[in-house]
Amino acid sequence: MVVSDSFSNCLKLSGAEQRRFHRQAEEARNERFGNRVFVRGVVEISNFCRENCGYCAMRRDHTGLNRYRLSVDEILNEVVPNLPDFVTDLNLQAGEDPVAVREIAIPLLKILKRETRLGLSVCLGTFRESDYAALREAGADYYVMKVETGNAEHYKSVQAPGSLDERVAAIRQLSAAGWMVSSGFVLGLPGQTDAILTETVELLKALPLAGCSVSPFIPGENTRFSDHPAAGLDEVLNMVAGLRLLMPGRIIPAVSAMSLAGEGGYAGALRAGANLATINLTPERARGDYQIYRRERAIMTSELVLREIESAGCVPSEVGIRDWLAA
Ligand code: SF4
Repeated sequence: MVVSDSFSNCLKLSGAEQRRFHRQAEEARNERFGNRVFVRGVVEISNFCRENCGYCAMRRDHTGLNRYRLSVDEILNEVVPNLPDFVTDLNLQAGEDPVAVREIAIPLLKILKRETRLGLSVCLGTFRESDYAALREAGADYYVMKVETGNAEHYKSVQAPGSLDERVAAIRQLSAAGWMVSSGFVLGLPGQTDAILTETVELLKALPLAGCSVSPFIPGENTRFSDHPAAGLDEVLNMVAGLRLLMPGRIIPAVSAMSLAGEGGYAGALRAGANLATINLTPERARGDYQIYRRERAIMTSELVLREIESAGCVPSEVGIRDWLAA
């Protein structure tokens, strides 16, 4: 089976055909990466955000949310010493919060670069060129910058941050400056049509990316889309397989929201060709307030992630993303 021009055909696969499709993607992953899965820790350093995305409970106008910023000391004392040894990479994530970039991410990255061998990635939003340069200088080299959808009108209608053009320009700018960049989109976002889906995947394929992701739409509480249905698990897993077959050399994550989309979603993504798992390391006191979806999130602990990796017939990679891509 091949991935046709119409991604909607792939999304509908079920039963034996679906298993064959996923196996094909798994083989494509194994050909490039073996059955090794990169394991990255994520710390959600701040839930302040200056953007106002229609699908996100962390948007700036949601005044009912308890806002927090972690301190550098808290992360160094509580998170870093407890990192499992199979975690090779660390991702600092936040809403779009310039204060968190300046006062948490940059000083923390400098220390982590000096004192650890971790690959350092960030998912912090769109900033000025000088801010990206400061983050890179501090030690990060992998930037996660999602496009959410590849259609400019659709992007505007869901109030994604800034404009699609700006987002795409930022990805190209980061890549040209030497960053490894990962992007991705939301499957099942309200208003998404087959044509928009095709446009989105084509855009991601054309961009200079090291990584690519699909996240299932999960209706966020306190958003204008709270009654919109969530994406179906089969469709999401079929999309993971489709991305792997279209972009065999890219880092494709199993995202925690796949567990919310349906039982077995996480391991299913690894069986469908994903090769990155993420452990949530945000301290307990803050986790519940990082509401990209809803208060009851699927929190991937190290035990859970190891179990899912094993059940998918994979093993944690001993080599981190940066060293793998540099080899
Ligand atoms: S999706 Fe990101 S940029 Fe948009 S409101 Fe939520 S945290 Fe902010």
